[in-house]
Amino acid sequence: MVTRRQFVQSLPAFAVAAHMTLESNAALAAPAAPPEGHFHPHGKAPSEFTKEVLRKAKVSLPFADTRDFQEQKRGLIAPMKDLQIPTDDGGVSWDMERFQFLDQQQEFDSIHPSLHRIGRLNNNYGLYEVIPGIYQVRGFDLAQTTFVRGKKGWIIFDCLVTNEAMRAAWKLFQEHKGEGLPVTAVVYSHSHGDHWGGVRGVVDEADVRAGKVQILAPRDFMDYTISENVYAGNAMNRRLFYQYGVLLPVNPYGFVSQGLGHGISRGTSGLIAPTRIVEKNVEEIEVDGIRMIFQNTPFTEAPSEMNTYLPEMKALWIAENVNATLHNIYTLRGALVRDALNWSKYINAALYLYGQEAEVLFGAHHWPRWGNDRVQEVLRGQRDLYAHFNNQVLHLANQGVTVNQIHNVYDLPQSLQQKWYCRGYHGSVQHNARGVVNRYLGFWDCNPATLIPLSPEDSAPLYVEMMGGAAKIIARGRQLHDEGKYLLAQEILNKLVQAEPGNQEARELLADVFEQIGYQQENPGLRNSFLAGAYELRSGIPAGTAPKSSGPDVIRAMSTELFLNFLGIRMDSRKAEGLAFTMNLITPDNGEKFVIELNNATLSNLPGFLSDKPDLTLTINRADLEQTMMGAKTLEAQIKDGTAKVEGDVTILAKLAATMVDFDPRFEILPGTKLQSGDLVKAGAYEAVPGKCIPE
Ligand SMILES: [Zn+2]
Repeated sequence: MVTRRQFVQSLPAFAVAAHMTLESNAALAAPAAPPEGHFHPHGKAPSEFTKEVLRKAKVSLPFADTRDFQEQKRGLIAPMKDLQIPTDDGGVSWDMERFQFLDQQQEFDSIHPSLHRIGRLNNNYGLYEVIPGIYQVRGFDLAQTTFVRGKKGWIIFDCLVTNEAMRAAWKLFQEHKGEGLPVTAVVYSHSHGDHWGGVRGVVDEADVRAGKVQILAPRDFMDYTISENVYAGNAMNRRLFYQYGVLLPVNPYGFVSQGLGHGISRGTSGLIAPTRIVEKNVEEIEVDGIRMIFQNTPFTEAPSEMNTYLPEMKALWIAENVNATLHNIYTLRGALVRDALNWSKYINAALYLYGQEAEVLFGAHHWPRWGNDRVQEVLRGQRDLYAHFNNQVLHLANQGVTVNQIHNVYDLPQSLQQKWYCRGYHGSVQHNARGVVNRYLGFWDCNPATLIPLSPEDSAPLYVEMMGGAAKIIARGRQLHDEGKYLLAQEILNKLVQAEPGNQEARELLADVFEQIGYQQENPGLRNSFLAGAYELRSGIPAGTAPKSSGPDVIRAMSTELFLNFLGIRMDSRKAEGLAFTMNLITPDNGEKFVIELNNATLSNLPGFLSDKPDLTLTINRADLEQTMMGAKTLEAQIKDGTAKVEGDVTILAKLAATMVDFDPRFEILPGTKLQSGDLVKAGAYEAVPGKCIPE
């Protein structure tokens, strides 16, 4: 029996695939043999059309510019010798062995040359000097960790995803440059999980409480570390199977790299709350004897993020606001669309506040840039990149280009296309352009025919009928496939799969089409999504077991209001028809109170208010409520042993509990791929079950 928490917390680690057992479909027709080295028995080699796309990319891109490779290896102090980092429970936290194939061949006909390039750059793996006094351990996780010499010890900028990876990084650092000195401070650059999840690997919370270690974070950090992934968390976790290719083996025909880094380490994650929030827009703070100027950059790459300038070292920490890639304006796993213009403006502010004198630019992913000319060049390029999306996409939208056309119309200017650090290794030009339209105008293209359309499965049968039936569609689909017209082929084959989910031949052919489109992509998220679609069409959704869950820090960081809001989402309104009550919730230890109403099959809550005539008053310390939120102790048990006090109609709690639904992160995306067996994913009625904090 897998609890929902165990399953979700195993995501989105790529290695989750190792814990999945394939539900093979016995009815599959015998396929042609896959190309040598392909991981799937139905896998296909890249077609001549696909190879031609990759050849053209090779000659159109600025491969003569090798500065990234020089910068990536500059300052290497010691490579990491162990290609695998173990987890505490005997598994593998990080496996660099898997990515060595990227350096063993000049090119692959199933990997876009530009994606191959960033994959090779992400093969950096070891300890590097940024400048004397600033060091980075790179390649242990999706992000990097940075050590800055303070007066008494080391100030850490960002802590990777897991304790295991972070501990290994600290060990390597101490072997060469750490001088045996302790951690004196941690700076969390922003709210995404790859920048704080490993903090407990190197910091003891008791030392934080005792004032020996200071933890600094940007404004609203705690709110956004959790809230970004709660309301739609289950859907986001499922969609990560596509964006991050969770089930795809690392392979020339599968997963290659995630762009920002190779991937996400597995193991135990935690969170220690900051002791100092940087509240002002720009604020100078001395941290372990080092002057630091913090620049809050809210609603850029993350809703809570900050840059740091170290004036004595002329070093600019740019967080994740500037990377060696185009980042996501829209995130394929699902997220609110980011504000590209705001993002650009904060990069511009950093350029004018600090970039005029900075001699080195370093950040949370990739590698540093040295020399003021290069620093300014990269800041300007990245500034213009995000501004261009905002301005030119809206320029086109104002002339009638819609969300369904913009990705075929919009492109970056040549000068940005030819800069490697503007290439789409995380965001793609296509999905970001659609994202900008979506941010300002929403999903509708203003054609009434698309305003309240039939669901795909309801419209598809008519298309199939009008096209003359399945056999004709498959024949034409195969023809289009054989002519390399994959986008046209997917149009009609998708209709057939929607209409006839059980049509094996249609699913297999659509998978072949998706696979070719996937091979052609420069962007890892696009590639992974098409290859994941092919995988699930061929094999179905795998059943899975998952390793043990990590610590309770995330639940502790979740506000009671956020928890109650989420209960409103977990509640199946259809089961609450006719129910009505008013309830007071009081949590004395933190002084909070809420009035909660169920009315109109809708659960609402209001912090700071109590009802005069509640049907029920529940009094429980927030610390105890957390046990229920974690699924460790039911509310019923809390009441039974007197931990929670109730006054009024206690049956309300059971009635409400009966409306709560478990979200299973393995729901079907493509027709006919449904999980046939495997454990149901269960949660307690009042568990908080947030989606795992998603690294980005
Ligand atoms: Zn990140």
